[in-house]
Amino acid sequence: MANENLSLVKALMYGIPEMVFILRVEEKKQFICEFLNTSLKNRLNLTHEAVGKSLHGILSEEPANKLQKECMEVIKKKKIHLFEECIKIKTGDRIYVEITLTPILNEDEVCTHIVALAKDITTERLIEIEKMKSQSQLAATESEYRSLYDHNPDAIFKIDLEGYITSGNRALEQLSGYTVNELIGEFFIDFVETKDKEEAKECLAQALNGELRDYRLNFLGKSGTLMGCLVKLTPIILDGRQTGIFVGVKDMRELDKLASKYIDSEEKFRIIAENVQDVIILLNDKQEYLYVSPSGKEIFEYDQQIGEKHPFLNIHPGDVVLLEDRFQQAIKDKKSYKVELKAMHVNKGWIWTELNGTPVFNDSGKFKYMLLIARDISLQKENVDQLEYYAYHDSLTGLPNRRFFTNRLQEILEQEEKTGEGFAVILLDIDDFKQINDNFGHETGDDVIQEFGSRLREVIDSEDFVARLGGDEFIALIANIHEEGQILEKVENIQQAIQASWSINDYALNISASIGIAFSSISGTTATSVFKEADKAMYDAKNSGKNLVRFNHPN
Ligand code: GH3
Ligand code: MG
Repeated sequence: MANENLSLVKALMYGIPEMVFILRVEEKKQFICEFLNTSLKNRLNLTHEAVGKSLHGILSEEPANKLQKECMEVIKKKKIHLFEECIKIKTGDRIYVEITLTPILNEDEVCTHIVALAKDITTERLIEIEKMKSQSQLAATESEYRSLYDHNPDAIFKIDLEGYITSGNRALEQLSGYTVNELIGEFFIDFVETKDKEEAKECLAQALNGELRDYRLNFLGKSGTLMGCLVKLTPIILDGRQTGIFVGVKDMRELDKLASKYIDSEEKFRIIAENVQDVIILLNDKQEYLYVSPSGKEIFEYDQQIGEKHPFLNIHPGDVVLLEDRFQQAIKDKKSYKVELKAMHVNKGWIWTELNGTPVFNDSGKFKYMLLIARDISLQKENVDQLEYYAYHDSLTGLPNRRFFTNRLQEILEQEEKTGEGFAVILLDIDDFKQINDNFGHETGDDVIQEFGSRLREVIDSEDFVARLGGDEFIALIANIHEEGQILEKVENIQQAIQASWSINDYALNISASIGIAFSSISGTTATSVFKEADKAMYDAKNSGKNLVRFNHPN
């Protein structure tokens, strides 16, 4: 028997992995340790000396108090009591234990002993804690997703695999005007505009196939409003199986409005740029071409490459410096400028071009673009040249007129002052010209004036100069003449040319002219005095019987 008892104690001592504690219940509610097994000793760093000591003599304050309290419960209720505790073991780690307190009662039903069995449940507890943690994390993630769904500014709804709406968010209610409850169970394609229904069906079929794409669909709101939307379908996959589809709907009406405004203004600009007669050119701050209107090709036959550097490629080299100057000055002054220059036309060569440049700056005042408007002004230039020509030429004969002759005379006088070289003027007035008008008509008179002019031009040397002064009066300027003899030959040639037979409008005419010659050496040094002297000589010839030549002689 004693052996048997011994082996039972041994079994209790060594054979049980759980921690075992036997407490004797003393008066005044004292619990004295009567037995503790090896597992308990090892775990709590106790020795056999614990036997005979109270709970507070073995354990630290807090666990001792707790165990004391639980033991009191046991002796009161005389029932097995189970509770959990987290205790610190000798390694410093905390372990979770499940403690079973079993009361041992004597014949009088008085609890004399309590057997405490502490089972290490740390692993189970940790697993449970982890599980709880991940559950709460999952709940948090779920509520985040929920919030993303509920508060998304874009309308989102869920449909089942047949396309029936199963839920929707607040933005969907705002967009459609329907409540989510009104929408649940409805076929989503019923809310798509008729003309887009086919495309909506295709988009559903593709989403079921796992193909993701954006679609532009028009939806009809509750009030019948048509809403242009961008629609994205995302399959809902749970455990590898598609259970439904998320439909994201972005209201595109504002964007569409902006886009159409932009397209509208683009279109307007295109119409202007393509039809304007001037060339519109836009350069960036690096002087690269950003835009050249199609008229560039038409006006200059010049295909300016966009992005091409050097904006002055088809500008006459003589004008480039001026243009670059004005270009830089305009940026500095923040002012438009206008230049007239020659630009290359592929077929016509250099053509007169007017260039209007306007520098464009950004909000912070940095130079960004140069807007150039180029215009072919060759026609205007021609007109100006023409006007200038008529101002200095006689329209009937095409010969230089009095103004031109006077300027030339002035030049010659200035030259003479420098070089000392003399000249002569020959003044001619047709004899009895009025009679030609009277007898043959004014037109014939005109023809005679024209013919007279061309005969003079032919007979006068190229270095000499002939002009019509007006009426039937002509004048020639002969340079490098110093004496009468030198000019006689020229005058003879003139007379011969005049006296050659005339046939104007089938009329045979006899034409002669009275000629007065003035030498600069005698006439003085002003144009007026030269004219006056020539006039005097010519009148002398008239008065002496016409068809004569007279010189101005010193008085
Ligand atoms: P004279 O011999 O003294 O020179 O007399 P004339 O008849 O030639 O007359 P005069 O030189 O004094 O005047 C020229 C006339 O020529 C005056 C005018 O009637 C006429 N005449 C002037 N200009 C034109 C013109 O452009 N065309 C025509 N047909 N006649 C003109
Ligand atoms: Mg006359």
